Amino acid sequence: MKSLLCMSLLATLAASPALADPLSDAVKADMPSLMTWYRDLHANPELSFEEVKTSAKLAAEAKKLGFTVTTGVGKTGVVAVLKNGPGPTLLLRTDMDGLPVPEQTGLPFASKVKSLTREGMETPVMHACGHDTHMSSWVGTARRLAAMKDQWSGTLVMIAQPAEEIGSGAKAMIDDGLYSRFPKPDYAIAFHDAANLPAGVIGYTAGYALANVDSVDLTVRGLGGHGAYPQNSKDPIVLAARIVTALQTLVSREVTPGQAAVVTVGSFQAGAKHNIIPDEARLMLTVRSYTPEVRKLLLDGIARIARGEAIAAGIPEDRMPVITLRDGMTPATFNTQPLTGKIASVFTARFGKDRVQDVPAAMGGEDFSQYYLADKDAQALIFWVGGVPKDKWDAAKGDTSKLPSLHSPFWAPDAPAVIETATEAMTTAALTVLARK
Ligand SMILES: [Zn+2]
Ligand SMILES: [Zn+2]
Repeated sequence: MKSLLCMSLLATLAASPALADPLSDAVKADMPSLMTWYRDLHANPELSFEEVKTSAKLAAEAKKLGFTVTTGVGKTGVVAVLKNGPGPTLLLRTDMDGLPVPEQTGLPFASKVKSLTREGMETPVMHACGHDTHMSSWVGTARRLAAMKDQWSGTLVMIAQPAEEIGSGAKAMIDDGLYSRFPKPDYAIAFHDAANLPAGVIGYTAGYALANVDSVDLTVRGLGGHGAYPQNSKDPIVLAARIVTALQTLVSREVTPGQAAVVTVGSFQAGAKHNIIPDEARLMLTVRSYTPEVRKLLLDGIARIARGEAIAAGIPEDRMPVITLRDGMTPATFNTQPLTGKIASVFTARFGKDRVQDVPAAMGGEDFSQYYLADKDAQALIFWVGGVPKDKWDAAKGDTSKLPSLHSPFWAPDAPAVIETATEAMTTAALTVLARK
């Protein structure tokens, strides 16, 4: 009878993920401190590759916890290593940079920081992408894993990465020897806060999760002249307008239906005055895809359409459009199996199925992709942690077009929910990957 009672009690416990356990209790107890970290980080954002004070704070905390810490990796990056017996090597990543955005959240700890952009212009700076929540959870996760060393075995490499917003920080750390000077990871895991999920809900996508991001500059050259005598000119504005229209057929007519692709002309600049036909028009495009094949189709198509329209407009061979692919392309982020499935099921067991959702892939970009591409033997996963405050989510009835997006000056996530959920999730993922045999 007694053992039967125990059995049913155990069954109840197992079926009820909401019940407290030592990990969630420890994270909860640490939340006042993690929120102090969050408010400080939020009030003091730094731009890409200028995360000097931010990285110093994270490095000092990791050192205090017993990690072997190296700073200045990829300019301002931090690598904190904790060796704890035999087993795989796991990389956990936070990013650190803020954005040139004037904060308008009205939070009592809103950023008043101003800084110089790389072009030398003064700009307000804000953690408008939530990297401050990532860093606070990174601290929380480092604390938990340092305190729970008896429950895992292997090597933990916790990194704080610069310059995610300009797509260069991960590459800078890898180029600076992340995989040669430090233990090379078998697994890499990160999370990002999400403006399209309610606070505390985890989203994941197996396979392609985020897109290839290419920035293309297209200079359309004509022959300038007087606006009253178009017969003596080749008008680059009319030609560029035709190119913009023709580009719309790439996705609608050339990409296989169902395959993801975006071609957006985000900037069209030409001319200075009513009655002058300018010499050239300048277009700036963002081009998004998942697979290398679709990426090639889009980039080749842009070149073909630009040239073809220029020929149709009678532009001479030496004035054909000039196409420049900007450096720093962000490759698509791929969440590997079986890691993604395994972690998703562990999360579901811990948080319950209402809080763990299989979400569609997005066309945004993330340079977390570089950690997998630098070593395809490794497994990688980036997951989402919803940040939309519950009252705002309910008021918008889940219509995210009514809510501030990431990078908005109004983006104010429910930070306690994001940080607590992410810390518990990252620690759980680490304990799963580095489980004692
Ligand atoms: Zn961002
Ligand atoms: Zn971000």
